[in-house]
Amino acid sequence: MTPFFMTYVFEPAPPVSLPVAGTALRFPVRRIYCVGRNYAAHAVEMGHDPDREPPFFFQKNPQDIVLDGRFRYPRGSRNVHHEIELVAALRGGGADIATDDALDLVFGYALGLDMTRRDLQGEAKTQGRPWEIGKAFDDSAPCGPLVPATQCGHPDHGAIWLDVNGGRRQSGDLNQLIWKLPQVIAKLSALFTVAPGDLIFTGSPAGVAAVERGDHLHGHIDGIGDLVVDVV
Ligand code: MN
Repeated sequence: MTPFFMTYVFEPAPPVSLPVAGTALRFPVRRIYCVGRNYAAHAVEMGHDPDREPPFFFQKNPQDIVLDGRFRYPRGSRNVHHEIELVAALRGGGADIATDDALDLVFGYALGLDMTRRDLQGEAKTQGRPWEIGKAFDDSAPCGPLVPATQCGHPDHGAIWLDVNGGRRQSGDLNQLIWKLPQVIAKLSALFTVAPGDLIFTGSPAGVAAVERGDHLHGHIDGIGDLVVDVV
């Protein structure tokens, strides 16, 4: 029998949510999936052959999201990289989703930064250990507001760039994605049941590099908007 009320040991944290641009609505976040090495030029700069790899995934935690425009430089690392990315937000879910049906599940899009403790990720790679230490740390997912697909459509081309202190660091075009979003959703949902609230960081163009305290990051994606983050 379902209890009439439930008493928790302590008050559960409210769900992490993203603002929906131009509205008072919030998008509650369930899981964060990220695609690795999804732009050829970035795969090459990381020392990999972009032609040989199926997409692969790692996760961050909803609690890693930063919405206040401040990235608190993490402990435990001396080499933290920026990765500007298009983020897709799912309003529907399922398993084994067909590519033709995939975009119907997308509520909207945002800019995100897949902040990475590159030194710790590198050690994990060398030692065959999981990537969480390099990818899923506090503040590792600065995000902007979600733009509903009813407004922006499903962008498959357009400039994506990141300036640091006014100089261009990362630059690419969404049409350079190796695995397009419908394929990403199909592949992801073959491995995990995806659900409303899931975010997908779709990968970063070339030019990833280290940040320092005091840096001013300004990301942009045509048709989605801008994301401004200070490293503190
Ligand atoms: Mn990334």
